[in-house]
Amino acid sequence: MATDYDAPRKNDDESSEDSIEELKNRNTSRQSSVVDEDETEAAEGFELPGADLSEEELQVRVLPAQSDEFTCSSCFLVRHRSQVAREANGMFFCKDCEG
Ligand SMILES: [Zn+2]
Repeated sequence: MATDYDAPRKNDDESSEDSIEELKNRNTSRQSSVVDEDETEAAEGFELPGADLSEEELQVRVLPAQSDEFTCSSCFLVRHRSQVAREANGMFFCKDCEG
């Protein structure tokens, strides 16, 4: 039965695809416990992006500029007044953006 199963699958087109399918079948049938562990890892992976988002929110809240600072209208970074290179229509541009 094994040789009969192999004989028609010796075409080059199907050989690689078959080996992948065979590996998948072996993993699910022989190691069902390993599949359960993979699902746990996937659930843990979903929690990481949430943590990253909260960090980004904290960084956005730092934006309000102090009296001796300004927010560059080009790169939107808060800079010290001494870093103002140009002011136009109430907008400030830092030395980095103005070169
Ligand atoms: Zn800038």
